[in-house]
Amino acid sequence: MKKTDVAIIGAGASGIACACALGKRGKNVSLFEMSDRVGKKILVTGNGKCNLSNLFSDEKAYNENASDLIKILYSKYNSQYVIDFFNNIGLLTKAEKDGRVYPLCKQASAVLSVLRNELKRQGVDEICNAKIKNIKSVDGGFEITLESEKYFAKQVVVATGGKADYAGRENKNSQSVFDMLNLKTNTLSPTLSPVLVDSPYIKMLKGIRADGKVTLYKNGKEIKSETGEIQFTANALSGICVFNLSRIANRYDDCFIRVSLLHDYSFAELKALLKSRIKLVEKENVTEIFTGLFHKNIALALLKYTDIPTNISANKLNEKDIEKLANAINEFDFVCKKKTDFSNAQATSGGIDTKLINPNTFELKDKKGVFIIGEALDVDGDCGGYNLQFAFASGLCAGENL
Ligand SMILES: Cc1cc2nc3c(=O)[nH]c(=O)nc-3n(C[C@H](O)[C@H](O)[C@H](O)COP(=O)(O)OP(=O)(O)OC[C@H]3O[C@@H](n4cnc5c(N)ncnc54)[C@H](O)[C@@H]3O)c2cc1C
Repeated sequence: MKKTDVAIIGAGASGIACACALGKRGKNVSLFEMSDRVGKKILVTGNGKCNLSNLFSDEKAYNENASDLIKILYSKYNSQYVIDFFNNIGLLTKAEKDGRVYPLCKQASAVLSVLRNELKRQGVDEICNAKIKNIKSVDGGFEITLESEKYFAKQVVVATGGKADYAGRENKNSQSVFDMLNLKTNTLSPTLSPVLVDSPYIKMLKGIRADGKVTLYKNGKEIKSETGEIQFTANALSGICVFNLSRIANRYDDCFIRVSLLHDYSFAELKALLKSRIKLVEKENVTEIFTGLFHKNIALALLKYTDIPTNISANKLNEKDIEKLANAINEFDFVCKKKTDFSNAQATSGGIDTKLINPNTFELKDKKGVFIIGEALDVDGDCGGYNLQFAFASGLCAGENL
């Protein structure tokens, strides 16, 4: 049986960062990865540029039930800590105005290369194509059974990520490690993904992109708003602003997204705007009042949404119609459907509850010697580098303190 100080299961962002930190402390580390190479997902992050952190990382960018953990973790392992880690292993970084941090060369492959160089420098044993059959607690540590060999490790770090995987595939194997260790997860659902909607108008909007505001309502209560480019697909709302609502929209019943196409305008301003446009095209078809303002199909959808015939002339609109249209422009509602498949999701909402771990070491409070880091935990962040920031920070924290 091979012996090691620490076995890390999963060589993604968190597992690799943890291995680097442990290696630096002189620990003997075995890094088990089920696929043929370590850190493969890093290559597809940030559209191949890897948005590895965000200068504005704090608890507000994550799910509410992770707030306590994030506050403690980021009091030391904040974005600057992650940036310094990368600078020290040879990667220069650059932050954009919105705080997103990228490698200076804008290449995700460079991020993986410096991490792999560091793993080599620190003498970390990489075991790829690892098929872990069992993990059992034994005297003084853990016995890890692979297909053809066994390892003894004093401590085990679970860094298996979530269910979301790159290229729309689903990582089903992370769950098996939880089962082996008898760990229960909070409900897993896809996040940072398009939100499927049940709406008679969505098909006609397919392919349109429009700037605006999206607001998520759950049980009629406003939950969260985002602004940005809204993308309409045949059955979903998409775009980064929508991704940031998907954590809740994908998971719960009774959610709808309110699309506001001119959110800077008050109701009175919208009415005045519509009236002036009606004057301009009074004898033309009613759709012409939106020409130069919205895509033609948005105009048609707004008229259908408000039950106004599309074959009348603009000057046939009465005060009530104008009010209905002014309302619809900023209150175009789409009922959300729960999403259960992880294809096209960038992250997983749910996982091991953060209350079960010690926030200073990431060790499970009631399973000494077992540590959980990265997306395997019930922590998910908004778009913008927050998920990798957490993966790297939790990996470094566990690696330096376990
Ligand atoms: C397309 C895409 C783009 C993204 N872009 C960004 C971005 O720009 N910025 C950002 O902050 N976040 C981004 N994310 C999210 C980010 O990649 C993840 O949050 C982050 O990688 C999580 O790191 P992790 O180490 O916890 O898990 P992962 O990176 O998922 O790594 C887990 C590893 O464990 C391995 N594994 C799983 N089960 C087992 C097992 N049983 N045995 C052995 N190995 C196992 C997996 O193969 C994998 O290599 C993106 C995600 C996707 C899918």
